[in-house]
Amino acid sequence: MEKYNIDKIRADFPILKREVNGKPLVYLDNGATTQKPNAVINSIAHYYTDMNSNVHRGVHYLSQISTDAFEVTRKKLQSFINAPEDKQVIITKGTTDSINLVATCYGRAFIHAGDEIIISAMEHHSNIVPWQMLCDEKGCKIRVIPMNDKGELDMEAYQNLINERTKLVAVTYVSNALGTINPVKEIISIAHKHGAVVLIDAAQAVQHIQVDVQDLDVDFLVFSGHKMYGPTGVGVLYGKEDLLNAMPPYQGGGDMIKEVTFEKTTYNELPFKFEAGTPNIEAGICLNEAIDYINSIGLKNIEAYEHELLEYALEKLSQIPGMKFIGTADQKCSVISFIIEGTHPYDVGVILDKLGIAVRTGHHCAQPVMDRFGIPGTIRASLALYNTKEEIDILVAGIQRAVNMLV
Ligand code: PMP
Repeated sequence: MEKYNIDKIRADFPILKREVNGKPLVYLDNGATTQKPNAVINSIAHYYTDMNSNVHRGVHYLSQISTDAFEVTRKKLQSFINAPEDKQVIITKGTTDSINLVATCYGRAFIHAGDEIIISAMEHHSNIVPWQMLCDEKGCKIRVIPMNDKGELDMEAYQNLINERTKLVAVTYVSNALGTINPVKEIISIAHKHGAVVLIDAAQAVQHIQVDVQDLDVDFLVFSGHKMYGPTGVGVLYGKEDLLNAMPPYQGGGDMIKEVTFEKTTYNELPFKFEAGTPNIEAGICLNEAIDYINSIGLKNIEAYEHELLEYALEKLSQIPGMKFIGTADQKCSVISFIIEGTHPYDVGVILDKLGIAVRTGHHCAQPVMDRFGIPGTIRASLALYNTKEEIDILVAGIQRAVNMLV
């Protein structure tokens, strides 16, 4: 893999040079959030030094350049996911905000008592709770696609669950707790045969694999900037134009209106109808740099590199006595969840932290996944484009040390 210059890539992320607890940082919590390259960090300073102004409002110079830069990101996002038009890219606070938007607006208008919503057994809480809240309000019902012991969705069970009452299917592309890559194209096509719309949670997908909304024929797709090397507080809701147009607005306020009188308000067109109030301007503008960064390496290269790392890590970790992987799907991303016999994930996580190694422990906001496997939580190492085999070796040695202390 000649094109993949890992030394140069690591040099782009200044935080990777720091120490934690007197040891070089080994950052393996990328599923929670990724680190930021210089291009993103510098663009944040540049925004406040040179451009700061509100967007979509002023006629003055600064407002115009901020607005233009914000809209450049929207266009960049459009091509990143191959959306037909930039107005279909709604800029939100993040994945959670985007799912709540769909649950509130689509749900309010088109889902009624007796209807059913299908989710999967491996959803993040943010793709469970908004649908539960909707069901409580509307009297509709959630059905759950089960998974097998490898952490793969039971597609036959899905076919049996879906019926004419199913109005919406909301499934994650990649599981943050298991690493499973779900067959979303097939899930979408089956849903469409039954007249249901589909929301795909791509929070753990867009930074690892090429996502093409037109090829998937997905109705709604959501993701977060901070998990793709961009700033926090910004994310995306992509939607099919007719659906977005048919939905009522999310919040009321500035920017989302055409005309307001005390008697009546008319709403703005897409995408502004769903973007009430001042957005996170800085994050919106600087997300552009994160997309450029990913594109400069290329998702195909990132995917191949991370896959090689994953295989290496699985091979090395499997040699640790008592190791049990949770999530062993055939189609898997670089998220590795595991438990070690005789230890509690939290204790292992604390010892690893003392060694400068950042992993996540617990239920990873996916408690039903833990219930499914009958465990309180896992240790999760989630790999990104800047991780190395040397870091995997440090992780393995750290776990071995923890096991020696704890077992
Ligand atoms: N869905 C998945 C699969 C996730 O991994 C996460 C973040 N862990 C979310 C949704 C929520 O994303 P955010 O906190 O950025 O809104």
